[in-house]
Amino acid sequence: MLAKHKLAHEKAIIQYLIVDKKSIILESDDAFFSNVTKQSITSLHPFFESITTLLDLEENQEYLFSCIHLETDNRNIIADITLKTFSKEHALLIIQDLTTHYDNYQLTAQKRNESVIDSQILELKNKYLIEKEEFKNTFIANFSHEIREPLSGIITFVDILGKTNLDSEQKDYLNIINTSSNHLKHMIEDILDISKIEVGKLNLIEDSFNLSEFLEEFVFTYKIKAEEKGLTFLNTIGEKLPPQIIGDPYRLKQILGNLIDNAIKYTTKGSITLNVSLNQVRANKASIHFQIIDTGIGIEKENLDKVFTSFTQVDTTQRNKGTGLGLAIVKNLVSLMDGNISIDSEFNEGTSFALNLSFKLDTKTKDKKVEVATVEKLGKDKYHILLVENSEITQLSVLKILAAQGKFYLDIVTNPDTLIETIQNQKPDIILMDINLPNTTGDQLAIEIRQLPEKELKKIPILALTGKVFPEDLKRYKKAKINDVISKPFDEKSLLKTIHKYLK
Ligand code: ADP
Repeated sequence: MLAKHKLAHEKAIIQYLIVDKKSIILESDDAFFSNVTKQSITSLHPFFESITTLLDLEENQEYLFSCIHLETDNRNIIADITLKTFSKEHALLIIQDLTTHYDNYQLTAQKRNESVIDSQILELKNKYLIEKEEFKNTFIANFSHEIREPLSGIITFVDILGKTNLDSEQKDYLNIINTSSNHLKHMIEDILDISKIEVGKLNLIEDSFNLSEFLEEFVFTYKIKAEEKGLTFLNTIGEKLPPQIIGDPYRLKQILGNLIDNAIKYTTKGSITLNVSLNQVRANKASIHFQIIDTGIGIEKENLDKVFTSFTQVDTTQRNKGTGLGLAIVKNLVSLMDGNISIDSEFNEGTSFALNLSFKLDTKTKDKKVEVATVEKLGKDKYHILLVENSEITQLSVLKILAAQGKFYLDIVTNPDTLIETIQNQKPDIILMDINLPNTTGDQLAIEIRQLPEKELKKIPILALTGKVFPEDLKRYKKAKINDVISKPFDEKSLLKTIHKYLK
């Protein structure tokens, strides 16, 4: 039975032929070329023309020809052909059908080639995407940086203009410019932050700060904002909160600020509540619970998951002039701080955000309240400020702000080559140093100042005025012994506050 089935499936795959040295077929088993005896092998297929010359050669030679395409009686095959000259007169010709083998081989090779090409395309695509992403992020970072400079000018001069004699119509216009430019500043900062988060370049700082002072200032600012909109601002600050903690106060302010700004934005009547309490203290770390509750428009349940995604705005009405980045930044900052955030909302009733953040306890600093000097409290009649800056906008902004105080002389150096000489002649109390300068940088100049032979000169406080405040920049400034950084765009308050910190 087996023999019968075997026969049905068996297909001849080899044909043996004996040929003489004149290429005539003497014997054949007719496996795929039938009735071929007495014919010349050249009649089987043109390929055999090429081997006729070999038949006249020495005996006991063997030749192998691979991958020969032949047309047999009833099909096309791909074969290996072996020629053995077993005597001076005769040779054995073996034709082995290896069609399946070669087809598979070809298929495998083709697949391999395709997969090599696919992986090369993938590699190229990845490279392209990485380059595109890098370009995008560098572009955003540079662009936002460049935009800050003129914006800084607008914000400062709007501030200054507001202090001049204006009629009520002019004041209204100025308010509009003020709101719009601050809004623009906010958006640029959000875009810059999200692009930094995306490339993992947003690093947190570790600073010791007084929590109750921080919350006091925070509540003060937002109470005014809420009340301006006719909302009640409520707050409960837990009594057991640790006084001095270590963390990033700027980012904490950004997180809470974004949430409360939203609460105010999306609430038309009722209240905004901020609750802060201590969860627990463990291993020198305090876990603090923050809750921000509003009685605003609320969010439908099906949209709750979406609000933390970049560029997502659930409320698309005119009321919403945001970028849809605020909550994405909040969520990322909270997870950078190893904390967690959750949202609960009832449509048309209100929203509440709850977050837990941990901070190291600062047991060394005892309730460090930084006394910010006010102009009246300062010792000298007039202080000498040296500004190293070649942007006219910044020069004028600083000049206007300081002149209004009546407590400062301002000198400006635009050519860095003359700086050391000016310092030696004028012995200023503080140096305000731009970082991007022609042919040099502010941090380079700071290094030179710190190497001056005169003791009192090399210690002059140097405050950088710059829009470049990436962590790597801050590190560089610190290394150059720059005392503090005033980030552009600056306003009157931030400029004066930092200057006062360094006046004796
Ligand atoms: P936006 O710049 O649009 O405010 P956010 O990322 O801060 O962006 O918020 C995303 C969306 O979540 C908002 O567009 C708004 O629809 C919704 N949202 C955020 N906070 C509140 C809130 N307190 N009440 C109602 N909706 C809110």
